[in-house]
Amino acid sequence: MKDFPGQTELMPMSKKQLVCPHCHTTNVLPEDRLADQPRCGKCHEAIFDAHPVELTAATFDRHVKRNDIPLLVDFWAPWCGPCRTMAPAFEEAASILEPGVRLAKLNTDDEQMISANHGIRSIPTMILFRDGKEIARQSGALMANGIVGWVRTQLDQ
Ligand code: ZN
Repeated sequence: MKDFPGQTELMPMSKKQLVCPHCHTTNVLPEDRLADQPRCGKCHEAIFDAHPVELTAATFDRHVKRNDIPLLVDFWAPWCGPCRTMAPAFEEAASILEPGVRLAKLNTDDEQMISANHGIRSIPTMILFRDGKEIARQSGALMANGIVGWVRTQLDQ
């Protein structure tokens, strides 16, 4: 068996844009490094730390549009009992779904405009975004395995 020295396809290294959950700078990372606990080039904090990112009007669009991985946003409010019940489940889901999916939270009391723009009528509501667009939503609290299962179904994983 001999290796014929013909030509070799040059595999372009697949890169992903990821928005830092701490300073919101967009980082570009090789896809195969996402699971290696990458750190932000600017603030040096962990890009994934198993916690949902708290979004505001100042950071929401950037996370929706600049992340090359799907983004799951939990629309919630402090006075909402089911939201508070789901909070630890959402934390747990973050630790399971990272680094394939970014999890984030939006306080609908503080950011009523964003909530209205997305037609949120009841909370908790989760919206799954990919490539800057909503691909699915789910209203009502779920347990951690329910959240993970729902997301994986939507993403065909
Ligand atoms: Zn950062």
